[in-house]
Amino acid sequence: MLAILPSNWEGNTSTRRCVIIGAGFAGAATAYYLTRFGLSRVVVLEQEPVAGVHASGRNAAMVRQVVYDDAIAAMAREGASFLQQLPTDWPLPTGFEQSGSLLLADATTAPKLQQAGRKAADAGVPVQWRSIEHLRQHVPVLAEAPVQAGLWCPTDGVVDIHNLLQGYLNLAVAAGAEVRYASKVRRIVVRGEAVRAVQTEEDEFEADVLVNAAGAWAGEVGRLAEAADIPLTPFRRHLFVTQELPWVEASWPIVWDLAHDIYFRPESGGLLLSPCDETPHPPGSTVTDPAALEMLAEKVTRCFPRLSSLPIRRSWSGLRTMAPDHRFVIGWDPMRKGFFWVAGLGGHGVTVGSSVGRLAAQSILGNADPPRAFAASPDRFITKL
Ligand SMILES: Cc1cc2nc3c(=O)[nH]c(=O)nc-3n(C[C@H](O)[C@H](O)[C@H](O)COP(=O)(O)OP(=O)(O)OC[C@H]3O[C@@H](n4cnc5c(N)ncnc54)[C@H](O)[C@@H]3O)c2cc1C
Repeated sequence: MLAILPSNWEGNTSTRRCVIIGAGFAGAATAYYLTRFGLSRVVVLEQEPVAGVHASGRNAAMVRQVVYDDAIAAMAREGASFLQQLPTDWPLPTGFEQSGSLLLADATTAPKLQQAGRKAADAGVPVQWRSIEHLRQHVPVLAEAPVQAGLWCPTDGVVDIHNLLQGYLNLAVAAGAEVRYASKVRRIVVRGEAVRAVQTEEDEFEADVLVNAAGAWAGEVGRLAEAADIPLTPFRRHLFVTQELPWVEASWPIVWDLAHDIYFRPESGGLLLSPCDETPHPPGSTVTDPAALEMLAEKVTRCFPRLSSLPIRRSWSGLRTMAPDHRFVIGWDPMRKGFFWVAGLGGHGVTVGSSVGRLAAQSILGNADPPRAFAASPDRFITKL
């Protein structure tokens, strides 16, 4: 594929109109920062009647800063800092409970986790490497867990995802943005190689810049604009919530066994758990697959024997959308002028919403930090001649 120069917009940016497709964390946080940086002509188009119907409302609500990929880890730290100290005008309580996280490792995975922990510590995240005996004192159900040690990160935690998402949208609207629900973008109008407008069933919206924050549909929206073919795949993941369990303490941290890919945390008097399943799935609504419960039962028995026989009260699934290298896709499309990607947030969108929105808005306005913009750029998928 032949790459052309990245597009940008010309003239006075404050008078330009930006249309954002998608009112999940990617679109909402981008709208928030664009308006915060002085752009008021922002329209967010969301196909559903409310925000957060898809991934942004169907996740585990955890904020986790120790991540193996350096570029994602930097954005996760920035995202967590934002949540620790929300702007003074933040309209809704996000209830960021910093109950911490315990990331568990066995002999094989320990070196990688220790390295990620050292990098997090160097960047100012208060982490401690702890023995399994220490971890069992903290969370007694870890007795008999086949892990060696773990990383304790006390500043990780859980947020109210609906208030967080709504907070971005409310502040964007207060600064002049418009959010239109039940407005599915069906056509993208291109003239002279540049995006000019988008069409829903009922309306047409002029656009100098079109932001593709369509989550699992980002690939489809890219095709509507005949933009670059960015390889994004949605993967389904299940979550399970148990009935109330008298032995669960609400103060327990997030417990994530990275060696065997399973996590749990306290939720509504019981536990929320995921077997960390990862099945490719087309964009759209997801149903619960009984195989995921079997996978959970098998992993619980193997990894947390003290937890076996959990009464499940509720389950659901959602889509985590990822590029092949699992890095975010944030930047101008290499082929279509005026088309900007904010996609592929994978399993990090809650944590990184603010840092992603900030980077996207800075890039759109032409003042992003070059190394960070480079790491997320869609250009990496284009073969240059
Ligand atoms: C089971 C699960 C657990 C997770 N746990 C965590 C966690 O604990 N911590 C964490 O940080 N992250 C977690 N995540 C990841 C996080 O939820 C996602 O990264 C994030 O929500 C993605 O946000 P988004 O805005 O890109 O996508 P979405 O939330 O899917 O938003 C995209 C929006 O675009 C709209 N749209 C699509 N096409 C169109 C169109 N043509 N016209 C108009 N609107 C359109 C959709 O309706 C949708 O609302 C989890 C995800 C899942 C599925």
